[in-house]
Amino acid sequence: MDNKYEDIHLKSPQEAALLIANIDLKNSYLAHTIREIEEAISHIRKQHYRVVTRVREGITKSGSVFKERCCHILLDSLRECVDEDMKDRKIRLTLAHELGHIIRNINKLKNFEDIDEKTYTAEEEDYAWKFAYYLTDIKSEGHKDNIQRRCKNFIYESGQLKQELISIIEKQIRDICEIIEKKRKEGVSASALKDLCDQKQKTEDVLNSIQNSL
Ligand SMILES: [Zn+2]
Repeated sequence: MDNKYEDIHLKSPQEAALLIANIDLKNSYLAHTIREIEEAISHIRKQHYRVVTRVREGITKSGSVFKERCCHILLDSLRECVDEDMKDRKIRLTLAHELGHIIRNINKLKNFEDIDEKTYTAEEEDYAWKFAYYLTDIKSEGHKDNIQRRCKNFIYESGQLKQELISIIEKQIRDICEIIEKKRKEGVSASALKDLCDQKQKTEDVLNSIQNSL
């Protein structure tokens, strides 16, 4: 592999998604993109690195755990969601969002600097959601072109993806508000709730940015 991924973390989310997804698009699934990201990291590190995905009941908050030789992406199985297409859309967008964080931090994986998702800025969250949108959209377009495919899964209209993405972020805000409200009722002081309030503000900023610029 040449050095085409060397500066991928400096590109726009759209350019990065195009670069990483653009391998034999018609026959390529999201799983292939994950393998390609593993390749890109392994190439930059000069040592093998694995990206493992886990969709499981009981995971209430999706996110990534970075280890020295692998990254675990944990995804909420959304058991309560009865609309299977909506569930697919949400899980794929959330997975692609976590992949966006990996791309953004790819240089830190070179010598394994600690990557803590609590430190993600609003700007990085914005990047990761845009990356998720473009990657899912590119994959959807690829599936549309693949007339040999037996099923029509994972083909979406762009407006539908944007709406789903916004609903995921809105749910994050509602979840934070619920926690804040619960803690307030338990008598937790305003100063002790500062981190949660900051997190709420950050997520609202991301929502505004996505609504205005995607
Ligand atoms: Zn994120």
